[in-house]
Amino acid sequence: MSFPDWTVEEFRRHGYAAIDWICDYLERVEELPVVPKVAPGDLRALLPERAPEEAEPFEEILADLDRVVLPGITHWQHPGWFAYFPTGASPPSILGDLVSSGLGVVGFLWASSPAATELEAHVMDWLVDLLGLPQGWKTTDRGGGVIQVSASDATHLAFVVARHRRRDVAAVEDMVVYASEEAHSSVAKGARVAGFTHVRWIPVDDRFALVPTALEEAIGEDLAAGRTPVAVVSTVGTTGTTAVDPVRAVGELARRHGLWHHVDAAYAGTAMICPEFRGHQDGLELADSYVFNPHKWMLTNFDCSAFWVADRAPLIEAMSILPPYLRNRASESGEVIDYRDWQVPLGRRFRALKLWFVLRAYGAAGIRAMVRHHVELARGLAERLDADPRFTLVAPTPFALVTFRHVGGDAPTEALAAALDDTGEVHVTPSRDAEGAFIRVAIGQRTTRARHVDRLWELVDALAEPVR
Ligand SMILES: *Cc1c(COP(=O)(O)O)cnc(C)c1O
Repeated sequence: MSFPDWTVEEFRRHGYAAIDWICDYLERVEELPVVPKVAPGDLRALLPERAPEEAEPFEEILADLDRVVLPGITHWQHPGWFAYFPTGASPPSILGDLVSSGLGVVGFLWASSPAATELEAHVMDWLVDLLGLPQGWKTTDRGGGVIQVSASDATHLAFVVARHRRRDVAAVEDMVVYASEEAHSSVAKGARVAGFTHVRWIPVDDRFALVPTALEEAIGEDLAAGRTPVAVVSTVGTTGTTAVDPVRAVGELARRHGLWHHVDAAYAGTAMICPEFRGHQDGLELADSYVFNPHKWMLTNFDCSAFWVADRAPLIEAMSILPPYLRNRASESGEVIDYRDWQVPLGRRFRALKLWFVLRAYGAAGIRAMVRHHVELARGLAERLDADPRFTLVAPTPFALVTFRHVGGDAPTEALAAALDDTGEVHVTPSRDAEGAFIRVAIGQRTTRARHVDRLWELVDALAEPVR
């Protein structure tokens, strides 16, 4: 039996063509409207109803990227991307993913591809030093880092470990988990998927940070009602406004009451590569687990979510199930990490490659310079907005997110967000808090420079209604 396959020479030729296509895309992305003007079904209408029966030439497939795919792409790599948070992408990271695909290994055990495990453990240990995380979190110590698909997965996993650890003490129906009202939706989803029915949303202060006395009260009420508090999440850099919860105060309460303390720094974790931001993570030595996304602001393509535990034993205990076909001498020696026991799935991609490429190709100094540039651009924009009587800032800008609203309220704020997007030059995210609509401007796309933020300001200035 034989089937037609590309020769290595064909792969080489098509591979160069695909890289050329990506380079051309990156060169012209700034000229494209950030958000595509398409209606539901537009792309599917261009596709044949059935999959091809016969092999098609790659030239035709590649050409269809321009015809079929590009018109429906939202350009996250546009320098006018100010929506949500940025998503990391950089040439070294793209190549790291390509090499990972080229090797095509599945590193669920050390033995199933030793280099995949060891490179991952090593770059995760590097990050402990680069971000000023507790030394005990290194794989060479009691803790350890592992790359997960997403921060949502990491938070879900932390909840599962917290639940498993207390399984002899209480039924899941009687367990309680806590997070602030401003916590990411993945906290609610992770808690639900982990089976928790009691989730307490703790109030925040006027800077959107969790109020520790309110947490303490809630824990007290649950204990008095016979429930078992098992976990609390603090957020460093919330999604809405990049607010920072008091990690130390939450950690102290967690210790006192035996709660698993998970810290979600999905977006802001990257900033910790600059020592001047580390005051925001004071108290991390009191955390049990921590997640940040190199795939947001650290130049690394999705998926790459960095997750650490202070003590790997409860994680492995919760995740390890050993069928006979996965037994092997290396695992039994106890000298290796088997990352299948650090995550829910068995299979895993060689994601450490792209992170390794990024850390080496930019160097810590390069990443620091990028972060500082974005933060400086954000603070400059916040100052301009603050100085204009038409606008008020919603929250401080500790990192590179600017949040503001029109003093006229919801209507002019929402109109401005829509008008900005309609220009095709920029993309922002409308959001809401208790006071109403506001606009989030997240600066952090790799190629965003001062001229792009200046242009955003020009558009804001021109499109915002005057004060009535
Ligand atoms: C973006 C974000 C998440 C979710 O990240 P995913 O990797 O997409 O799951 C979680 N928490 C915070 C604070 C975020 O900003």
